[in-house]
Amino acid sequence: MNKVDMFLVRYAEIGTKGKNRYVFEDILCKRIRKRLEPLGSFDVRRDFGRIYIEALSDYDYDEAINRLTKIFGIVGLCPVNVAEEFSYSSLKDAVVRHFHDNFDSFDFSFKVHTRRINKAFPMNSMEVDMEIGGDLLDEFEAKGLHVDVHKPDVMVEIELRGEKAYVYSKIIPGPGGLPVGTNGKAMSLLSGGIDSPVATYMVAKRGVEMNAVYYNSPPYTAQRALEKVEKLGTIVAQYAGPIKLYVVNFTEIQLCIYDNCPHDQLTIIMKRIMFQIAQRLAEQDDCHALVTGESIGQVSSQTMQSLGVIDAAVDFPVYRPVIGMDKQEIVEYSQRIGTFETSIEPYEDCCTIFVDKHPVTKPKMANILKSEKHLVGKIEELIDKAVETAEVKILK
Ligand code: ATP
Ligand code: MG
Repeated sequence: MNKVDMFLVRYAEIGTKGKNRYVFEDILCKRIRKRLEPLGSFDVRRDFGRIYIEALSDYDYDEAINRLTKIFGIVGLCPVNVAEEFSYSSLKDAVVRHFHDNFDSFDFSFKVHTRRINKAFPMNSMEVDMEIGGDLLDEFEAKGLHVDVHKPDVMVEIELRGEKAYVYSKIIPGPGGLPVGTNGKAMSLLSGGIDSPVATYMVAKRGVEMNAVYYNSPPYTAQRALEKVEKLGTIVAQYAGPIKLYVVNFTEIQLCIYDNCPHDQLTIIMKRIMFQIAQRLAEQDDCHALVTGESIGQVSSQTMQSLGVIDAAVDFPVYRPVIGMDKQEIVEYSQRIGTFETSIEPYEDCCTIFVDKHPVTKPKMANILKSEKHLVGKIEELIDKAVETAEVKILK
């Protein structure tokens, strides 16, 4: 027996999209269908400016909630019980069932609020409020249930619409945002740290499909570091949908920079080449921007001067959604979305291996370009090779 027959999906921002609203709603419906598909049979439909998810078979309620609360575009979910017939007795059964299915104890105040959209129902909304209120008290008063019409703990909503009576009372919060697939595609530079998974999540939350690239430096970085990135990408993919991850072998490039450039500039030059490779992969895949987890001042390569010099390596938009966040804020964000525990696993990524003790914090463009001259004739081939041999993994 299913816990509830139906979910009512609340979405806020989509409602402001005017004529495009239906496009957004359809994409949201598609995302919901896809995520629920493995759990059973569901009818997901748009109706009267709302989205309903009706269970047509048995399903795992907790897993359905887990999946639905990770779909961008959903602001809230109301578990709904539906009366079998359009009659008072059937409605009453549905309300009592709703209480049993949704509450473990009944020591709270409530109020009934009925909307009779289909006037064919034999009682008006006030009468339904009163009668259902009385019936609920008969059933649960001994267990502590009581009425409070001013500030009820639980508002029992009844809707009489079409030939159906719906009952719902609570809203399970969703992640908000816009459905993935409504805002193009971006390429995220995904490392094993705390910041870039959060940045990837934040851009996906605005409806952007995400690809990702990870720069791997075997044998300087462990296989476990790559596995950690895959794990992080998979966590983000529970929200963002499947993420196409490129694993780029970066070792030869790093060694080439190490052998030919001043060591205090290594990180900056390495980042510039990372960006160039990311742009190539992004263009191949019709992405509209790069995304990183950089935040002003966090490390030497993230000072205003460094960010400017790194940006100048590409002629492509670079988005840094955590740019103005403190580390602690990013940590809290990552805890909320579930990436933190994986991010703090100890495996090092390629940046930490080749860093200088005293890296430049205020790089000058001219100096960096001068150093990069030493790479001419060597690095181009390595970059081509890195792009061509990048391994693709689909994380989902
Ligand atoms: P994060 O916590 O996201 O790893 P960080 O604070 O460690 O970031 P850096 O190592 O300077 O900062 O990296 C800054 C950004 O560059 C990262 O957020 C990420 O977007 C990108 N980046 C760094 N290393 C890699 C890598 N090995 N592969 C892909 N992207 C990377
Ligand atoms: Mg890092």
